Parts: sequence; structure tokens; C-alpha cells
Amino acid sequence: MTSSSKGVANHLQYILALDQGTTSSRALLIDQWGRVAAMGQRDLSQRYPQPGWVEHDPEEIWFTEWASIQDCLRQMPEAADHIVGIGIANQRETTILWERTTGKPVHHAIVWQCRRTAAACQSLQDAGYGPLFFEKTGLVLDPYFSGTKVAWLLDHVPGLRARAEAGEILFGTVDSWLVYQLTGGALHVTDPSNASRTLMYNIHTMDWDDQLLEILRIPRGMCPKVVDSSGIVGLTERRWFGREIPISGIAGDQQAALFGQGCISPGMAKNTYGTGSFVLMNVGERPVSSSHGLITTIAWSMEGRTQYALEGSIFSTGAVVQWLRDELNMIGRAEESEALARTVPDTGGVYLVPAFVGLGAPYWDSEARALITGMTRGTTRAHIVRAALESIAYQTRDVLQAMQEDCRMPLDVLRVDGGATRNAFLMQWQADVLGYPVERARNPETTALGVAFMAGIGCGLWQSVTDIHAGERFDPPFVPTMGATQRDALYAGWKDAVRRARA
Ligand code: ADP
Repeated sequence: MTSSSKGVANHLQYILALDQGTTSSRALLIDQWGRVAAMGQRDLSQRYPQPGWVEHDPEEIWFTEWASIQDCLRQMPEAADHIVGIGIANQRETTILWERTTGKPVHHAIVWQCRRTAAACQSLQDAGYGPLFFEKTGLVLDPYFSGTKVAWLLDHVPGLRARAEAGEILFGTVDSWLVYQLTGGALHVTDPSNASRTLMYNIHTMDWDDQLLEILRIPRGMCPKVVDSSGIVGLTERRWFGREIPISGIAGDQQAALFGQGCISPGMAKNTYGTGSFVLMNVGERPVSSSHGLITTIAWSMEGRTQYALEGSIFSTGAVVQWLRDELNMIGRAEESEALARTVPDTGGVYLVPAFVGLGAPYWDSEARALITGMTRGTTRAHIVRAALESIAYQTRDVLQAMQEDCRMPLDVLRVDGGATRNAFLMQWQADVLGYPVERARNPETTALGVAFMAGIGCGLWQSVTDIHAGERFDPPFVPTMGATQRDALYAGWKDAVRRARA
């Protein structure tokens, strides 16, 4: 990485990257060479007021984020005076409403996982609005996205609708909320990668959409101003750092990871393997509409250009390993799955389809249920564990294949991050099942790095994306060794097992 900084020559300069996630708030100091210099992390409480409902306390989101910033600065007090920009990556879709004048939240945040608006989404679907929302926002009518969450709050918090119509209430995703805090209430903004997850933002006109707002009965005045993902948005209030620091990068966490993985050109894709998986593929400067169950989203807007992505979420990937460990006691720790899978040459024809909560992209089948097929009297624990790991790779292929069919761009490499990428068996199997290489990021902090890069470019620390992505940041790739005939036969067996899980 080269730095264009002409600042204090004898001191490193830093970007403070905030990674506000679903289960924790984190802060990282990234130096001008793109290295992680310090990190702070605080857990965030999960609130489940009813089955299927998930909430966070917005004040706690901010306090934990601020505490993790302080942890970071305690580790490197000398860095505090040399932070040149702040970047914010955040859990997406999570919805917060607060009072314009006092900044007080009017309700807990409704988290992206919360299903409380399932009936509302079904009504919109029944009224025939699905295609309109899909065309304008690239999204499907699902409780996941912010729009119906905002509407729910307006309908259920006493007096709130009238106050919102009078201009007293602001809506924001977590990025907006953090910027609002850091600027002492001076700024109410978001970036297009976050706005594109709300069901209210038109990804073609790049503006809040009046027709959709009317259908959802959401006053336009509640919506934040949309600013670039990279560029100086404003300055922090002096009280936080003793001086003003530019906020210069904002992105949803998955888009930040796409950027952090260097997927900056059309046809580049990444998968994050956590509890579930998020696959995103950069499709360039024109949105691609999916006919294979994927959503279209804005990747980022920077340097005068907007880039789009196709996205597919897989519900259960790392979760299947947790299930083997916690429910079946087949392994003691997640890592053991690798050695056990290697004790057998194959699964002996066993497939495991982990449709515990239905299947996400590209199937979107909430009725599907998990199953294990092809067992014989000779089937062992090792076969089942191996089949579980293989299922993670097959599901990833399902999504990537759908992406390629939608955008007709050949993929020649998949970039990967997340907890389960430590499993080398899984990574090799992934390459074999795809037929092209898999590259694992050397630094696992792809989300924080991604938004730090956006912030660093935004405040002039780095000149451009090419500046940043020049260096060698990946382990040696996992290269496929399996022949095409075997690959096709194994994958056909997977598709057959999926058909049964959906029957
Ligand atoms: P999240 O952000 O969703 O909590 P992480 O990125 O921390 O997820 O990854 C944790 C997930 O990865 C868990 O579901 C765990 O089962 C899985 N995992 C962790 N290590 C391994 C491993 N060595 N092999 C397979 N799966 C693993």
C-alpha cells in the first residue's frame, strides 16, 4: 500500500474503523499501511421480547461502540492525535427511530433478524406489490429489510405517526445512528449501500422513492440524507476526541467486506462463512436484476461512481457445525470437524441438507427442512461430519451459479473470509466443487479494513482503490484438483438431496 499523506512526516497516520455488528461493537485502528494497530470490542445484548422478535437498545449500541473506541485508544494513546478519518461499517437493515430535537430513541431498534413484520410483508405481496418493490429496490418483500419495520413502529408506538408526520421523528439504520451520535446530532445521513436495504430507496434513481414511501405510509422527512460511501461527511463533535475528526466512510458490513476483499471490479465475488453465509458479487456500474432468487444491492458509491452487487444469503453454513457439536455431540469443537472429515475418502454417498430454518438463496423455501440422505449400515460419524462440511460448499456453489446465470460474467476466483474459512478441508472442497480457486484473506478483518479503505480514500490518506489493493493480502489459493466429471456427479447428487428436502 502506498500512502499519499503529506502530513506529519515522522508519525504514522490512522483510520479509526467502527464495525458495529449484530452481537458486538468493535473499533479498530488501521495504520496508513493498512495494518491493524489496535482493537476494542464489547458485546451487545440481544433482546427477544417474543418468539421470532429481535431487538437491540440503541443507547447500548452507541455506548458499546464508544467503549470499544476508548479500549482501542487506551492500547495506543499516541495514535489519538493522528487519526485522520473515521469509517463506519454496520449491521444492516436494523431500524432505529429517534426524536429530532432530543436524539432520544422512541423504541428499541428492530434488528434485521426480527420477523415481526412477516404478516405485513405478506399483505403487501397479496396486494400485488412484490414486482414493484423488486424492480425499484432490487429487494424482495421480506421482514429482513427496514421498510416494514419503520411502518410497524409508526403503527404501534402510541402517537408516533402524528409526530413523524409533523417532522419530529428521524429514521436511520445503525450507520445513521452512529454518525448522529458522533456529530452531536448535527448530521442525519446514510450511504447508498445502507439505503439500498430499506425497501424505500430506488437503486436506479438513487433517491428515496415517493411511491414506495406512500405504499409503506412512511413520511419522506424521516429519511436521512444519502451521502457517498467514501468522502468527508462531516466532523465529530469536539467532546469525543478533544478535536474534530472527519467521518469519511460509511458502508453496510457485507459491502464493506466486499471492498475489503478487493472485489472492486465486475465479476469479483466474496463469501463470508459465519453462522450463515453472505455471498456478494460485484456486477459493475449497472444493476443486474436476478431471475434466480438473488437480490440486487448497491455495493458503494465513491469517486463519482456507483457500483452494484448481487447478493445471496445462505441461512445455515457454520450453523451445521454448531449443530453437530451441540445437538449431536459428534464433535467437541468446531475445528475437530476437519480432522474427522479427512479420516474418510468421501461421504459414501451421504448428503446432508442443513435446511434447519428453510433454505435461503437461491431457493427461498421456508418450508424445506433438513435431512440426511444416502445412509447405509456402514455410515459413520465421519461420513456425516464430512457431509455437513461439504454442504457448506455446495450451498455456496448454488448461489454463485445463480449469480453467473444472472449476470453472465465468468467467475475465476472466490475470495473468502469468516470463522469457518479456518477449515482447510472445507476450503479445498469449496475449490473442488466450484472448479476455480478460492483465496482466503490473510487478515480476517475484511469488514473493518474495507470501510477503513473507504474512509482513507474519502479523507485523502490514500489516493484510490488501486493504491490500496496493490499488495499481497491473500494466502496461497486453494486450487481445484477434482476432475469435471466427478465434480458434476457429486453436484448432481447434492441437487437431488435438495429436491428431497423441499418435497
Ligand atoms: P458469526 O460472525 O456468524 O458469529 P464467525 O465468523 O465467528 O461467525 O464464524 C463462526 C462459525 O464458523 C460458527 O458457526 C462455527 O461453527 C464455524 N466454524 C468455526 N471454526 C470452524 C472450523 N474450523 N470448521 C468449521 N466450521 C467452523
